[in-house]
Amino acid sequence: KVYTATEIKQIILDENVQFLRLMFTDINGVIKNVEVPADQIDKVLGNKVMFDGSSIDGFVRIEESDMLLIPDLSTFLIFPWGSEHGKVARLICDIFTPEGEPFMGDPRNNLRRVVDQMKAEGYSSFNIGPEPEFFLFKLDANNKPTLDLNDDGGYFDFAPVDLGENCRRDIVLELEKMGFEVEASHHEVAPGQHEIDFKYADAVEAADNIQTFKLVVKTIARKHGLHATFMPKPLEGIAGSGMHINMSLSNSAGNAFYDEKTPDKLSETAKHFIAGLLTHSRALTAINNPTVNSYKRLVPGFEAPVYVAWSGHNRSPLIRVPQARGLSTRLELRSVDPAANPYLAIAAILASGLSGLHDNLPTPEPIDRNIYGMTSAERHAAHITDLPSTLHNALKSLEKDDIVKDALGSHLYQSFLDSKQLEWDSYRQTVSDWEREQYLSL
Ligand code: GLU
Ligand code: MG
Ligand code: MG
Repeated sequence: KVYTATEIKQIILDENVQFLRLMFTDINGVIKNVEVPADQIDKVLGNKVMFDGSSIDGFVRIEESDMLLIPDLSTFLIFPWGSEHGKVARLICDIFTPEGEPFMGDPRNNLRRVVDQMKAEGYSSFNIGPEPEFFLFKLDANNKPTLDLNDDGGYFDFAPVDLGENCRRDIVLELEKMGFEVEASHHEVAPGQHEIDFKYADAVEAADNIQTFKLVVKTIARKHGLHATFMPKPLEGIAGSGMHINMSLSNSAGNAFYDEKTPDKLSETAKHFIAGLLTHSRALTAINNPTVNSYKRLVPGFEAPVYVAWSGHNRSPLIRVPQARGLSTRLELRSVDPAANPYLAIAAILASGLSGLHDNLPTPEPIDRNIYGMTSAERHAAHITDLPSTLHNALKSLEKDDIVKDALGSHLYQSFLDSKQLEWDSYRQTVSDWEREQYLSL
């Protein structure tokens, strides 16, 4: 339900809301918020709240630092968990310049821009169903995260093995109180690892949901004395955490990826969209796998993709087409990890897919066998290339890909590149324990 400003004011009184959190997401995908007392509601709803953008990573230069927070009323909700100072409600905001223009360094505004381009081409929505995975670690006596996992369960295990189950159930209950439709929740392959899947939504709402989801998981895990992490590969030798992205385009006729007349029931639109994703996959990786650590997950042996290919059956490629057809026809992009900024990732994915349609890109043959079992000569013959092996390589591909760069817009592209190059430089100057173990005897 979308509330009017008047309704929101009434709810705040009726429910005795004490604080309003005005939320937005910075370039690194971190949720930021400005908290104001609830009696400031008129100022909030009158679009008069300003904040200093220069304090946020990748936002603005000093001379243009004051930014307006424009609340999106459709995102109003009261957090269901208690706080000792009364109820807290949130509104997700768009960032505008003091002149009242949407600020293009704001990932949410930028995603809306790319969605508008899609609409101009006759599609009504880009439906995104995410499958985020995360780990639960124990806290120590000082409430600092440890590397002790809180269970030794495995895929789809049940209690008593799965000690994280109570925590996960609580997370699901809180999500449902906030209007999420949780479709599945289960223990993942690694000990301490979980997955919760929720219903698809249109691009901007889906990105908002991913951000809210992370906040809920972390908050509820703390209440159980646990630390939830969306780090892509917290421990070597066991599975990492992905965030598979299921996607489809809708138009007035329904699901634009479905065509009952073709042998595989996939439309030409779906085929070209796949081709666009494959063609831009190396640059996309920089956005979808944006940390140094992301690339420790994209290795063989842990169900994460390493090679650029698509398949209707096999789970090893980058893109899988789940069996469901009709309204549920969708593509699953398996590379994305939960460290990605969802607004940037969805914008870049959408623009890449659409470019496959504009450019009528040909779709390679699906690879319906285990790519990890193929020799490099066999992969070469089948035109299967590799995903970038490091953040550095992914950034080099991004610099060469105009479609993905345009999907970010020049402001976000430059801030992203600058921030990630700093991150890579810092990593590359670090001498690790692994190196000392290998080389100190030299
Ligand atoms: N955890 C795996 C990954 O890193 C995915 C497992 C699955 O198929 O759900 O992508
Ligand atoms: Mg999974
Ligand atoms: Mg999946």
